[in-house]
Amino acid sequence: MAKQILILGGGYGGLLTALTARKHLSAAEAHITIINRFSTHQIITELHRLAGGTIKEQAVALPLQKLLGDKDVNIVVDTITEIKPNDKQVITSNGAYTYDALVIAMGSETNYFGIPGLEENSFVLKSASDANRIREHVEGRLDAYKASGNKADATIVVGGGGLTGVELVGEFADKLPEVCRSKGIDFNDISIYCVEAGPAILPVFPKVLIERAVSSLEKRGVTFLTGVAITEATKNTVSLKNGQTIESNTIIWTGGVKGNPVVGSCGIAEDRGRATVTSTLQSTSHADVFLAGDCAVVFPEGGERPYPPTAQLAWQMGETVGHNLAVQIKGGAMEKFTPVFSGTLGSLGRKDGIGTIGGNNTQLKGLPASLMKEASNIRYLSHIHGLFALAY
Ligand code: NAD
Repeated sequence: MAKQILILGGGYGGLLTALTARKHLSAAEAHITIINRFSTHQIITELHRLAGGTIKEQAVALPLQKLLGDKDVNIVVDTITEIKPNDKQVITSNGAYTYDALVIAMGSETNYFGIPGLEENSFVLKSASDANRIREHVEGRLDAYKASGNKADATIVVGGGGLTGVELVGEFADKLPEVCRSKGIDFNDISIYCVEAGPAILPVFPKVLIERAVSSLEKRGVTFLTGVAITEATKNTVSLKNGQTIESNTIIWTGGVKGNPVVGSCGIAEDRGRATVTSTLQSTSHADVFLAGDCAVVFPEGGERPYPPTAQLAWQMGETVGHNLAVQIKGGAMEKFTPVFSGTLGSLGRKDGIGTIGGNNTQLKGLPASLMKEASNIRYLSHIHGLFALAY
C-alpha cells in the first residue's frame, strides 16, 4: 500500500523535497501531500524588489499547482497549528492529517528580541503580501507627506543591516526618486535610514565589499546608523540606544529570525527553538520526521556554529530529504547532508551589488554582482521548472 508522505511548508525546503521524492517514488509507492499557508511558492530572496516596486508579484509568487500539479502531489492551502509527532498527526486550521513519514519545512519567524513596541509598529518582509503591504504603505505615506508636509511621512527606518535590510534600502534608493517625481515630491526631502546594532552592516562580507555597499547606497540617499541598536518603537517614533529618537511613520524590521514556534514546541528534539537533526536530516528524536530549511539547526561535522538559515541550504536540504524519504520507504542507503556553498550575493538596487562566490570566495561588485544574482535566481527557477510558471 502507498505510504503517506506529509510535507509541511511549500518554501524552498518543502518544494524541493516534494520534487525530489516524486523523482524516486511512484504514485503507487507514496501519496505526497504538501500543506502551505499560501497557494504559491514564494521566492523570498526577491521580496525586496516587490516591496520597492521594481517587479510584479507574479515574479515572486509561483502557483504551487503549476509547479506540482502534474506530479501527483496533493496541495493543501491551510495553516498548520499543531504537530503531534507521537500520534503521527498534524492539525491545521481546517483539518487533521496523519502520515507515515513527515517532513517539516516551515521556515523561520521574525525575531523581535522583546524590543518594546516593535512587533506592533513595524512591517516585516517575509512574504509577498508583506512586500505588497510595505510598498502600498510607503506610497500612502508619500501622498500624506505631499498633503501635510509632515516629515515623519517622508522618513523610512529599516531596522537591521543584514542582507534583508540592505537589499531593501537598495530598492528604495533606486525606486523612490521615480515615485517621488511622479507625485511631485522632491526626493531630497525623503530620509531613508538603515539602523544596525553591530559595528558594521553585512558582517558576512569582507571589509572592502562592506565599504563599497555603504558608499554606493549613501550616494543614493541612504543614511546608515551603525553600532546603535533600536530599543523601542511606537507608531511614529524609533528610539535608539544612544538616546536619539527618529520620527518615522514607516518602520520596517529586518533584525533577525528565530525558529518556527509550532516546530520548536511540538515535542521533537530542539535547540533554542530549531529542530536538531541527524546527518541524514531526520529529527534526532523521531526517525519518521525529516527536516528541511530554517526550522532545523544543522551543524557542520565537528563544528560548533550552525550553518546560516539561507535559501540555498534549504533547497539542498530538501533534495537530501526527498532522496532519504525514498530510501526510508523502499530501502537502500540514506545520503548524508553535505551542503555546497556557491557563495553569497546581495543586491544594492537594480544595477549594483556585491558578492563572494565559489570555493575561493572570489569578490564581485557592481553590475557583475547584480547580474550574477539575477542568474542565480534564473538558475533556481529553471531547476524547479518555474520559468514557465512565471509566464502566466
Ligand atoms: P540577519 O540576522 O542576517 O541580520 C539582522 C541584522 O540586524 C544583524 O546585523 C543584527 O546585528 C541587526 N540587529 C539585531 N538587533 C538589532 C537592533 N535592536 N537594532 C538594530 N539592528 C539590529 O537577518 P536577515 O538579513 O533577515 O538574514 C537572515 C538570513 O537570510 C541570513 O542568513 C542571511 O544571510 C540570509 N539572507 C540572504 C540573502 C541573500 O543571499 N541575498 C538575502 C536575505 C537574507
